Amino acid sequence: KNLLNYKNLGYSVLEMTHRSDAYYEINNTAIANLKQLMNLGDDYDVLFLTGGASSQFFMIPLNLANKDDIAYYALSGIFANKAYEEAKRFINAKIISSSKDDNYNHIAKIDKTQIDKNAKYVHITLNNTIVGTAYNVLPDVGDTTLVGDMSSNILAKNYDFNKFGLIYAGAQKNIGVAGVTIVVIKKSLFNNINSDKLPLMIDYKTHSESCSLYNTPPVFAVYVVMLMTKWVKDRGGIKAMEELNNKKANILYDIIDNSNFYSGTVVNKSDRSSMNVTFVLRNDELTNKFILEAKNNGLVNLKGHKAAGGIRASIYNSMPLEGVLKLADFMNKFENENK
Ligand code: PMP
Repeated sequence: KNLLNYKNLGYSVLEMTHRSDAYYEINNTAIANLKQLMNLGDDYDVLFLTGGASSQFFMIPLNLANKDDIAYYALSGIFANKAYEEAKRFINAKIISSSKDDNYNHIAKIDKTQIDKNAKYVHITLNNTIVGTAYNVLPDVGDTTLVGDMSSNILAKNYDFNKFGLIYAGAQKNIGVAGVTIVVIKKSLFNNINSDKLPLMIDYKTHSESCSLYNTPPVFAVYVVMLMTKWVKDRGGIKAMEELNNKKANILYDIIDNSNFYSGTVVNKSDRSSMNVTFVLRNDELTNKFILEAKNNGLVNLKGHKAAGGIRASIYNSMPLEGVLKLADFMNKFENENK
């Protein structure tokens, strides 16, 4: 209804100006919902930016550090590595932990004694979308600012969000459609930003001071965030989503654990993602057969990322339990027919 005629105003949410009371309400409700869901107080700001999570790979170092400052990166996956490579171009980015040599098949421990006390932040990727690992427990980084990429598990897994200085996420997996990137930032970090060296669009303060209305925001994408945050609230909040997501993931992990036919690619059970369940079959021929037959059964997009191969079942918030049960049935049947 709102797509055709937003609240009977006579125009669509797709054509609405961002300088209108209708949009201010969408923007403010989305921010308030996010803060409520993540249990954040007035010491945090929520920004709606563009450029994807990938733009945060440069905005974070440029805002939070100067050229010679140290910041640490945990190399837990392909996007984590991209974030590090980008930061390295602007600041003294160092690796604090890495599983890169093992194809990121586990979460390497962060040793807090290795953190320089002057470091500006430690960057982690909470859910590693391509390889199927996650930080199921937050690392202890002492007093250093913790920065987290939550692109593939925002609103899907509960953490103590107050432990973070900055959280960012592209909306498109768990919280809406492509086009908006969410940045949650502790306001005290604004004091560290050296605005003189930054283009205005790169400076978090520009967006904070204008309530994310400095330039035209992606109106429709923010509208969907507003709806999705309401949807999560109506379902009992992030904890309830996490419980359901664990239940969904465990159905698939149980099949993998009880089979010699499917092998999980993540070595430690405690590092497994509840969003992206990754596994391999005996050989490529069987993998391709699995993908094709799954598709014929209405189960699509199961092919692993090209950098990882194998199978990846992405079961974000919007995937209902029934979808996972259908995949589980298919996996059991396929195993019986092909083992
Ligand atoms: N970080 C993670 C963990 C991701 O999964 C992705 C996208 N899949 C990105 C960053 C990059 O996001 P974007 O495409 O929005 O730039």
